[in-house]
Amino acid sequence: MIKKPLLALVLLLCAYKSYCWGFYAHKQINYYAVFLLPPEMLVLYKPNIEFLSAHAVDPDKRRYMIAAEAPRHYIDADSYGKDAFSRLPQKWDSAIAVFSADTLNSHGIVPWWIQTMLQRLTAAFKEKNQSKILKLSADLGHYIADSHVPLHASSNHNGQLTNQTGIHGFWESRLPELLAEKEWDFFIGKASYLEHPSAFIWKKVFESAAAADTVLRYEKKLSEIAGSDQRFAFEERNGLLVRQYAAGYARAYDRILNGMVERRMRESIYAVACFWYTAWVNAGQPDLKNLSGKTFTEADIKEFAEMDLQWKKRPVTAEHEK
Ligand SMILES: [Zn+2]
Repeated sequence: MIKKPLLALVLLLCAYKSYCWGFYAHKQINYYAVFLLPPEMLVLYKPNIEFLSAHAVDPDKRRYMIAAEAPRHYIDADSYGKDAFSRLPQKWDSAIAVFSADTLNSHGIVPWWIQTMLQRLTAAFKEKNQSKILKLSADLGHYIADSHVPLHASSNHNGQLTNQTGIHGFWESRLPELLAEKEWDFFIGKASYLEHPSAFIWKKVFESAAAADTVLRYEKKLSEIAGSDQRFAFEERNGLLVRQYAAGYARAYDRILNGMVERRMRESIYAVACFWYTAWVNAGQPDLKNLSGKTFTEADIKEFAEMDLQWKKRPVTAEHEK
């Protein structure tokens, strides 16, 4: 029989395997992005808001089905060196002319992948295919949100190189789950048309890369002041007692980060809405009251089920932590 402390530790590991912004935050980001859209888009997005929110996490589940999925969620800026990263070609074809596709994939490809997804969503709007529009919108929202997370732009993505393992989920899951609903504000205004979506998303990735050091250094400092008894606490989570970053410690971290997590979540919401809107405009603003493909195909339904199944069966040891 497993003794209690060991069981709790196992549970902590499960609870904080990171899922990119955490499932909670991803769902919130897609959900709130809907409210930034113009009325012509709301006719489709509002009645389907639950789908867009629930399926915001599909790309994280898909990585257990498709090997090529994992690099789409991050880019290790520091693997290129600071100057080289700022000079990376922002178009995929130009980038593979300088680095091989293998090299780019090995360091993560999120800013290029977002451009591919934007093209796919634009094509789905042109095709006027409802189920494709919804699926691609949910997916695109995920990758855009990931690009806003500082630790998605660092090879030290879970603090594993600085003895801070677990910080990934601390920043992107624990803080939003603790603070978002009661204390953060997600009313943001209106989506804008992006003249240069590629430059827009690269700017976000540069910001993420620049903030990664702060995310790590401030937690390191705080942990030295607080000590492990204040850093972690046993708290109830989904009816189970788990050892996790203590609520007081999480609040202190949020304070010294000066609202960074809320700010990045707000910026994610805005960016997701802007990309959805831009795809629709670039497709010629089709009438969304009049679409085909209203029901998901059998292949779609099979894919949803398979993603869920593979995600539930994922080996904890093989979990990719970006
Ligand atoms: Zn992700």
